[in-house]
Amino acid sequence: MSGRIVCRNLVKVYKTEDVEVVALQGLDLLVEPGELVAVVGASGSGKSTLQSILAGLEPPTAGAAEVAGWDLTSLPERRRREFRLRTVGFVWQQTAANLVPYLTVAENVAVPLLLTGAPLRRRRLRIAETLELIGLRELADADAESLSSGEQQLLAVAVALANSPSVLLADEPTAELDSESSGRLFDVFRTVSAAGVTVVVTTHDPLVSTSVERTITIRDGRTSAETIRRAAGAAGEEFAVLDAAGRLQLPPEYVQALGLTGRVRVVLDENSIEVRPEHGRRRAEP
Ligand code: ADP
Ligand code: MG
Repeated sequence: MSGRIVCRNLVKVYKTEDVEVVALQGLDLLVEPGELVAVVGASGSGKSTLQSILAGLEPPTAGAAEVAGWDLTSLPERRRREFRLRTVGFVWQQTAANLVPYLTVAENVAVPLLLTGAPLRRRRLRIAETLELIGLRELADADAESLSSGEQQLLAVAVALANSPSVLLADEPTAELDSESSGRLFDVFRTVSAAGVTVVVTTHDPLVSTSVERTITIRDGRTSAETIRRAAGAAGEEFAVLDAAGRLQLPPEYVQALGLTGRVRVVLDENSIEVRPEHGRRRAEP
């Protein structure tokens, strides 16, 4: 099943004893199979919430979420396990959370394969293939805890890919890495996506956008902007994102520049829509 991701008007509300936190408020997202996208946003913007919904760990409160043909809004508990084991792989921020420290590199990759009942020959093949991919084949018999944090995150990718999922989700995977290790990890993400796996990486580091073709910015639980980069290192084109209900987040610096608050005038021109302060004057035509 191809790894398309579709979120429409996705809402997630966390209810604690007496407060409700709206973590996602109408998020729209479309990721094509084999695409590599970065989701960038400040702390608290809803990145981890989005990842745990896509990973099938938490059900959305409202809206639609579909991953590789699985409808996550109505996924029964007993099928959730199958989805998590076979359809998505994930890499978490804390390098230690992804691995069993006292098992070897190869044994860590074997764990998810054993959980799906893969026969010995298949296990050997996938261990060899995934370790080759991340460039750690010579370390197959080393204990996971003896690896550097960069190597541990690479191994986490191998573990996540063991059962050949169609989607790889990584939540702030570079947070504990130096820039060289981060670069290596993104090289692997690019290779994985080139092999047809959909990769969604969340990060609060806006610089990451230089290493992927498409960066999606989330602000207050909503997709607000996108940067598309046609070639590595090239300047990106910036886009704002219109949601299904016609809502748009204006770039904060634009809002500030004109001192916009509350009510604004929205005027349709022939080929554009203009947003003006309520009491502002239209600039004179040249
Ligand atoms: P990010 O990963 O971008 O930092 P999160 O998705 O972790 O953002 O959080 C989004 C919002 O939801 C924050 O306000 C956070 O405090 C809240 N939140 C996240 N998880 C929970 C939870 N389990 N219970 C209550 N509130 C939560
Ligand atoms: Mg987070």
